[in-house]
Amino acid sequence: MIEQSRRRFIGTVSSLAVASLGPTFPRLIAGCRPQEHATPQIDPDFEPGYLELHRSGELKRRGEELWQVMQRCSLCPRECGAARLDREEGFCKGTSQLVIASYHPHFGEERPLVGRGGSGAVFFSNCNLRCVFCINWQISQGGEGEPRGLEDLAQMMLHLQAMGCHNINIVTPTHYSPHIVLALDIAAARGLRLPLVYNTNGWERLEILRMLDGVVDIYLPDFKYADGAMAAKYSSGADTYPEITQAALLEMHRQVGVAKPAEDGLMYRGLMIRHLVMPNSVSGSKEVVGWIAQNLPRDTYVNIMSQYRPMYRAFDYPEIARRLTRGEYNEVVEHARQAGLTNLDIQGMALF
Ligand code: SF4
Repeated sequence: MIEQSRRRFIGTVSSLAVASLGPTFPRLIAGCRPQEHATPQIDPDFEPGYLELHRSGELKRRGEELWQVMQRCSLCPRECGAARLDREEGFCKGTSQLVIASYHPHFGEERPLVGRGGSGAVFFSNCNLRCVFCINWQISQGGEGEPRGLEDLAQMMLHLQAMGCHNINIVTPTHYSPHIVLALDIAAARGLRLPLVYNTNGWERLEILRMLDGVVDIYLPDFKYADGAMAAKYSSGADTYPEITQAALLEMHRQVGVAKPAEDGLMYRGLMIRHLVMPNSVSGSKEVVGWIAQNLPRDTYVNIMSQYRPMYRAFDYPEIARRLTRGEYNEVVEHARQAGLTNLDIQGMALF
């Protein structure tokens, strides 16, 4: 996965001085320690959900419970059963070893997540969806990244807070959710208090999402396909994508509600859906926005994304081997408006 819609930082964003930390980040982590308790750049009255869970010991308990799911892994809808705790690789290529590609303030996300200080993104390696058009296939499917420990991840979170980021944005988190929750517990004990953004491809098991209830402040899922046959074709056989993602979106909404920016312009809680419009109606965009309008509040935040461009193995599929046209994009936006959606994030025509 780390598909285009969630990985648009490459080529489309200004990526700051600390762009790809790669091998340099141990030095940066060490360097952040004196600032760990710098005042977070958020509403001082905000408290993330995970803090209460940390105080009660529930956050650690949830992390440990998730960890055990890796015995015969069913963290994601592949349910491939890999014995990850015995170092067996899953379909996603993940074992129990955490692998991270980079972390940095990210200025290419939605405006209420970026603010002035950026969204504190952590990019996890490997992926359970493995899309043929992935813009970041080197990270999602090419093995790019470095093995890291839970302490490392906790320090990254604290470093991002110290740098002035407004949230912790965990990108492609599903297959490393146990590591993330346990690292969050460590970071919470050391003063982390930024909202947690769960930035996912949307293909999530309800049983796992329920274990994240109260841990996640902002869900940022894709809703990529309306048709299971298309999901199977372009995302490695994931033919259950539409119905599983629909159920996941309803659960996410139940947990965090509609996303509305606070007075300071930042987002602290809620569901923010992304949909990447693809050429030749491959993603079933009209059905996607129609389903959202019929099954979630009309003011649900929906980012209709226009920046598809063929990458990786997309050129093997003629129907997706080109960019989107202005007409294709506008048609989807118009359909979403007619369906009654009122909280649309519409992208600039300059992208075409
Ligand atoms: S997260 Fe990875 S190992 Fe676990 S079920 Fe999914 S694909 Fe398999």
